[in-house]
Amino acid sequence: MSQEHDADAELPEVAEAEAAADVPVLRLKRHEERRVAAGHLWIFSNEVDTAATPLTAFSAGAIVAVRSNRDRFLGYAYVNPHSLIAARILSRQTGFAPGPSLLVHRLRVALALRERLYDAPYYRLVHGESDLLPGLVVDRYGDVLVAQIATAGMEAQKEAIIAALDKVVKPSAVVFKNDSGARELEALPKYVEAGLGALPARLTVVEAGLTFTTPLEGGQKTGWFYDQAANRRQFLPLMKGAKRVLDVFSYVGAWGVPAAHAGAEVSCVDSSAAALEAANRNAAANGVQLRTIKADAFAALEDLHAAREKFDVVIVDPPAFIKRRKDAGKGEAAYKRLNQLAMQLLPRDGLLVSCSCSYHLEPGALLDAIQKGGRHLGRFVQVIASGGQAPDHPVHPAIPETRYLKAFLCRVTHD
Ligand code: SAH
Repeated sequence: MSQEHDADAELPEVAEAEAAADVPVLRLKRHEERRVAAGHLWIFSNEVDTAATPLTAFSAGAIVAVRSNRDRFLGYAYVNPHSLIAARILSRQTGFAPGPSLLVHRLRVALALRERLYDAPYYRLVHGESDLLPGLVVDRYGDVLVAQIATAGMEAQKEAIIAALDKVVKPSAVVFKNDSGARELEALPKYVEAGLGALPARLTVVEAGLTFTTPLEGGQKTGWFYDQAANRRQFLPLMKGAKRVLDVFSYVGAWGVPAAHAGAEVSCVDSSAAALEAANRNAAANGVQLRTIKADAFAALEDLHAAREKFDVVIVDPPAFIKRRKDAGKGEAAYKRLNQLAMQLLPRDGLLVSCSCSYHLEPGALLDAIQKGGRHLGRFVQVIASGGQAPDHPVHPAIPETRYLKAFLCRVTHD
């Protein structure tokens, strides 16, 4: 509770409240305020009354007061006239325009949640919209913070973000890994740089008692998949006794290394040589070894089957196959094929870990892909555990896109 009170103390100050009067208005068309009023943070360009408030009059990242057609105040937002999502709400408090102290407040509230959830400083500190900081992700690697900015509105706040992170977390470094594809939608350049302190070559993560390092530049996301941590924690103990484990799309060995540490012989498949090199380094650092296979996952699964290899556990944790809704059909077919190829390598009684981070694939659709793959092989599938993204990736209930990860642990036997 003390942290919450502390956070309240950081609400915007009087000077900002006065400045709020000067904030320009962004007017919505008739009835277009419903989604925002219901809690969503996004305003699409076609919802703006551009006759009254032309988007082109705003610079990318400008702060506006969003008002309905009937002049109801809906919140303060930042604008990007060049993006389909024309504005994102930052706060709903009348009279307090967003500024540096709002950022500090939001970060304190975000940190309080993570400190409640975790004993050690390895987690996602800010999960964008779900922490009311649209367009900003911050992952914590001990005293190094890696931030990713996806929008022009957040890019405009960069210096304030550095100052706020410094104030709230007191990190040794704040790194901007601004290299995601989403930046193109906002006409933002891609770069990796240190905003505070020095740029580290590698990041350190401690998960379930093991220590990993992961590359910064060239790495996936900010460097580590914290979103899967809760699933690893839940599923890995249920694999005890497994002799042979196959970790497909292994990246730097977040699943494979702990499985090896628990005594299994582990093979990791990934198409990235750098990822496998890091996986080997992580294995060695934890006193174990891996067999690594650098190949396309589908081809590797076929080759292993042709070579009559069997694994007690096969883990498939692929990148999103469905990035846009229009890819759904092809993507679902890919999930089905992948799961079928994975199940083919299981003995008469084996375990499949099947994951999808595609928001456009419903949990039921992933289960369906697993089930269909199993039926095709004449296997019987029992779901014995399931999970979603870890709690440091909270879901914003009004924004379905914030709920994206699903994972199933299945026992697969012969029918
Ligand atoms: N399981 C990991 C995360 C996987 S990220 C974890 O929990 O940390 C996805 C990985 O798949 C990346 O390392 C990427 O290099 C790899 N990858 C992408 N497409 C691939 C393909 N077609 N075949 C094999 N690996 C692939």
